[in-house]
Amino acid sequence: MLKIPNKFASPLIILLLISVSAVAGEKLNVVTTLTDFADIAKQIGGDKVEAFAIAKGYQDPHFVDPKPSYIIKLQKADLFVHGGMDLESGWVPPLLEGARNANILPGAKGHVDASKGVHLLEVPSGDPAQLRAQGDIHIYGNPHYWLDPVRGKQIAENICAALSRLQPQNEAYFKSNLEAFTKKIDAKVAEWQALMQPYNGVKIVAFHNSWPYFDERFGFDIVAFIEPKPGIPPTPKHLAAVIDQMNQIGVKVIIVEPYYSKDPCNLVASKTGAKVLELATAVDGAPEVKSYLDVFDYNLKKLIAAFQQIAEAGNNGK
Ligand SMILES: [Zn+2]
Repeated sequence: MLKIPNKFASPLIILLLISVSAVAGEKLNVVTTLTDFADIAKQIGGDKVEAFAIAKGYQDPHFVDPKPSYIIKLQKADLFVHGGMDLESGWVPPLLEGARNANILPGAKGHVDASKGVHLLEVPSGDPAQLRAQGDIHIYGNPHYWLDPVRGKQIAENICAALSRLQPQNEAYFKSNLEAFTKKIDAKVAEWQALMQPYNGVKIVAFHNSWPYFDERFGFDIVAFIEPKPGIPPTPKHLAAVIDQMNQIGVKVIIVEPYYSKDPCNLVASKTGAKVLELATAVDGAPEVKSYLDVFDYNLKKLIAAFQQIAEAGNNGK
């Protein structure tokens, strides 16, 4: 209990002390589009933040229902973190419009586009509007960059800079958390790359083009997609071409995101003898995936187990 000598115990001073302690103990309210950004915000913000992710880890980040309850979350937010690159273009604009919170709009202190400073892949030379008209949903390049843990360090830096802008008094704390997070990632990446080294260049097929950053970091090779284009559902003609290609070059693994139908993958698997693996694209994408680092632990463990089984069967898919 706060003890104040009698001579200072005027109501004004008591009020002042209470309000100072309230400000010092106030947590920043962080709302993110993805669970990965929320986990990174918690790693950097520690006990100075509360973080809430709108898209669940088992939901397609391109398509989320913009529920009114999310507008209420955004109304109270001090910081909003999104993936940018048009990833959430179908659902973030109506939520921000509904929330009318000037503190989290583009250009404000409380707005973070997590892609800032990230080295992007598959940036098309064509006109984005034309690509969109053709049904492509990766019109500014591949937006799934958080699936590379090294790029995750840049996301963490972006979040750290924003938290420091909002609470300059805690800047040293955020920076020391960023340093610890960066070190943890560096150590884990070395460990993961060593585990994946024997499978360098193994060819696989994926449902959606979520994996170029993951693929680049861990050295396997995605040769085809079940979707003809990002966002376009598979057609029988396209699946037949994928089956032919897989049989010609001996591809034995198909990876699929939690939110897509497994039917086309199972059909292709039945014609090629491939295994279908559901991988997590975000925190909470599988029950075991509780943190950003778990995403990689979980996916690589699953891939390595499949590659080992295939190698043992005398058909390593290379
Ligand atoms: Zn995508």
